[in-house]
Amino acid sequence: MKVILEDIENTGIEIKAESCFAFDGGKFESVIFTGRLLPVGDKKSEFYLDGKITAKVVMPCDRCLEAVSLELGGDVNVRIVRTSAEELPEELELEDDDVSAYTVEGDELETDEITEQEALLLLPMKVTCAKPCGSELIKDENDEIVKEGDPRWDALNKLKNN
Ligand SMILES: [Zn+2]
Repeated sequence: MKVILEDIENTGIEIKAESCFAFDGGKFESVIFTGRLLPVGDKKSEFYLDGKITAKVVMPCDRCLEAVSLELGGDVNVRIVRTSAEELPEELELEDDDVSAYTVEGDELETDEITEQEALLLLPMKVTCAKPCGSELIKDENDEIVKEGDPRWDALNKLKNN
């Protein structure tokens, strides 16, 4: 959702946006953000984006590479600092607690760019199928064969020994 920062009232504006995008290692089928964009102070140079993300992501299973669908959710609470090209570099230097701040140049903010970055932060390191699969499945089958096979081999061994 595109927002003109200069037009934002002191009470902020409601943001409801949905997007989808692919990333290195999977695809977000939907990223839904609902929340508010609020200005900090009167200068319209700093804003807070507050809200919630719900997302559907498809990633390959870590074991068998089958596509696994996941639903993710999380809170978003980020600072947005508006910068302009004319500002001197030292004025753009951020304080320690500004590490998580996003910067936007000029008057227009695309909230999807922020919500997509935040959605990526919700991703698990890896996903696996709910059921055993891939090498897990092979291991399980071998376990069963060993268990089931034991009595039969016992009988055979007895015959051999006799
Ligand atoms: Zn799998």
